[in-house]
Amino acid sequence: MTARHILALSGGVGGAKLADGLQQACNDGRLTVVVNTGDDFTHLGLNISPDVDTALYTLGGVANPETGWGRRDETWTFMDTLARLGGETWFRLGDGDLATHVERTRRLAAGEALSAITADFARRLGIQADVVPMSDQPLRTRVHSDEGIFDFQDYFVRHQCRPVTRSIEFAQGDDVRPSPAVLAALADDALDAIVICPSNPYLSIAPILAVPGLRDALREAGVPIVAVSPLVGGAAVKGPTAKIMAELGVPVTADEITRQYDDLLAGFVLDERDAALRERIAVPVHVTDTLMRSADDRVRVARETVDFAKHLKARA
Ligand code: GDP
Repeated sequence: MTARHILALSGGVGGAKLADGLQQACNDGRLTVVVNTGDDFTHLGLNISPDVDTALYTLGGVANPETGWGRRDETWTFMDTLARLGGETWFRLGDGDLATHVERTRRLAAGEALSAITADFARRLGIQADVVPMSDQPLRTRVHSDEGIFDFQDYFVRHQCRPVTRSIEFAQGDDVRPSPAVLAALADDALDAIVICPSNPYLSIAPILAVPGLRDALREAGVPIVAVSPLVGGAAVKGPTAKIMAELGVPVTADEITRQYDDLLAGFVLDERDAALRERIAVPVHVTDTLMRSADDRVRVARETVDFAKHLKARA
């Protein structure tokens, strides 16, 4: 795989695995990872950006391999002490992870942009890729459910996705716009492809596409946009993607994901377990094993995705 510059859209754990594969496969090429911040929230007085941190820890090689989120070799003194004091413990913050949130909160309060802080953290973690929050202004995902309206982490962590989803809202002010680094990456003459990682289309990718101007900017970049299916064998590998599709009244099949991305897509990477759905997909399809269990899997899926996108670009 030789690519000059790839831009990837990513949520948390599923997306970060492919982003990691892209980073390994990029060699001398450039990778920009645009990360969902719709999950960001303030907790215990701290500004927490869960998907940005999953991207940073995964690309920086310090992610917890068991959970996919949080840091490896983490200690839990803070959380244990907080529990003894009767504090809120539903959102687990390891000691090392806590330092990320404390330092981010301090720098945001001092007036720095989230994208500048993230770029600096990425550099300090030795990450080759540019990790870019989708926006420096807050856009917050809220889940409207049969049990009321929940802020995202309340739904996702505290209530473990149990409420039945009726609709999803992206609450935002008038000033929300794409991070300047996203627009600069999309304007790069060397950009070869845009990859939508196998993240939750409704909770992780939709907020990115809801940033005013971002969807149009992706389309206008003039390079193939290829999505990797987050459904494997008609089910989510992890998380509520399938549950939400069912609750929204959408068939839980991979071809439905292509309808979610609609006019953006030039091609779709479909898992081999879902190969029978190929005929129902309107754009060119690449069928492969998309399950990323090992580091080698990540690199293989990344290479195949980029080669597929480059083939589409050559044909265009
Ligand atoms: P979250 O924010 O941590 O929930 O993570 P994401 O939104 O990035 O990813 C959740 C989606 O990733 C789910 O739909 C999973 O099915 C999908 N996913 C996780 N691991 C894999 C994998 O190895 N292969 C594929 N194709 N999808 C995956």
